[in-house]
Amino acid sequence: MARAADFDLYRPAEEHEMLRESVRALAEAKIAPHAAAVDEEGRFPQEARDALTGNDLHAVHVPEEFGGNGADALATVIVIEEIARVCASSSLIPAVNKLGSLPVQLAGSTELQARYLTPLARGEAMFSYCLSEPDAGSDAGGMKTTAVRDGDHYVLNGVKRWITNAGVSEYYTVLAVTDTEKRTRGGISAFVVEKADEGVSFGAPEKKLGIKGSPTREVYFDNVRIPADRMIGEEGTGFTTAMKTLDHTRITIAAQALGIAQGALDYAKGYVRERKQFGKPVGDFQGVQFMLADMAMKIEAARQLTYAAAARSERLDSDLTFFGAAAKCFASDAAMEVTTDAVQLLGGYGYTRDYPVERMMRDAKITQIYEGTNQVQRIVMARNLP
Ligand SMILES: Cc1cc2nc3c(=O)[nH]c(=O)nc-3n(C[C@H](O)[C@H](O)[C@H](O)COP(=O)(O)OP(=O)(O)OC[C@H]3O[C@@H](n4cnc5c(N)ncnc54)[C@H](O)[C@@H]3O)c2cc1C
Repeated sequence: MARAADFDLYRPAEEHEMLRESVRALAEAKIAPHAAAVDEEGRFPQEARDALTGNDLHAVHVPEEFGGNGADALATVIVIEEIARVCASSSLIPAVNKLGSLPVQLAGSTELQARYLTPLARGEAMFSYCLSEPDAGSDAGGMKTTAVRDGDHYVLNGVKRWITNAGVSEYYTVLAVTDTEKRTRGGISAFVVEKADEGVSFGAPEKKLGIKGSPTREVYFDNVRIPADRMIGEEGTGFTTAMKTLDHTRITIAAQALGIAQGALDYAKGYVRERKQFGKPVGDFQGVQFMLADMAMKIEAARQLTYAAAARSERLDSDLTFFGAAAKCFASDAAMEVTTDAVQLLGGYGYTRDYPVERMMRDAKITQIYEGTNQVQRIVMARNLP
């Protein structure tokens, strides 16, 4: 017979629900009021960064030994979900801080961890992740950026593209080819590069469909000379570390998608109660109720899969790769459908910037693309079927 505790797997702990309540209150008070302006003006959500840093929510995953919260994977998901519910751009602060720094946490030396995770935990620095290049997206192993050993230094040259929070972050995990023969089979290494390193520069911010508050820029490395102890793990292990990182962080993209979808449903639910046509609230029509039911059903299925994946990330289960890809793929597809339906439920008003659902629909789209497109997630799932 199963014991009651065996079913806790299907229910977030009380602390998780308390965390959700407090993050939701903070997000509604300090982040939501700026979300439309951040989108409209395409500016970095500094108010969100201040609020998150002031409440220790900017990088909750950093272990306690480096001054962080040591939040588990599910707590991190809940933080990102609740921020994304009001502003997807702002949710990229904790999400990309995790993405950028997780390689150091997973594979870096203790010295490297102390040096870079401590300022991150204090909120003094943000972290970005540099894998993609102009000609190497889905096929990240086709990267051209090189790191050549020169005494006790490495010299980096190349271009990374689509780098989230580039220019704002102080630190960058950069993947570069150290052996052109071996490439993904032991020829790619990971390094921490600092914004202040000589030879690092940034392109103009991309003009995007959504997440307009999160700067996406190219990062250029022009003979960037860094000490060899900035390598993350052993030479040649970078590609494996980069892929392992994505197993964990795709779950944070699922969380982001989930939050965006929940925000859209919550808004649409309130709207259909107020909006009257044919003499009654449009929410009284069964055609509208069925749409809301489908939206809520998809969100809840995405939430269960995302939380199940987070539990696997925490336990380092062997089926994490499948679950990380499945959660990201399912939740982002659900977010695209739910936000599109939310626009539909607001009719013509939904199509304007006077209401938040068109922003949510534009923001949802990116979750189907980054950290591997959903086609790539399906390749990953097919190769790792449970
Ligand atoms: C706003 C934004 C932020 C980003 N942030 C970061 C970041 O911080 N760090 C970082 O490293 N990268 C980042 N990326 C890059 C992102 O991960 C890539 O854009 C993504 O992996 C796809 O690569 P690509 O754009 O080169 O598309 P391509 O790889 O050129 O793909 C084009 C199309 O072909 C499909 N396709 C490709 N290969 C296959 C295949 N084998 N089977 C079926 N279909 C296939 C794709 O699914 C897609 O539909 C970001 C991108 C954006 C737009």
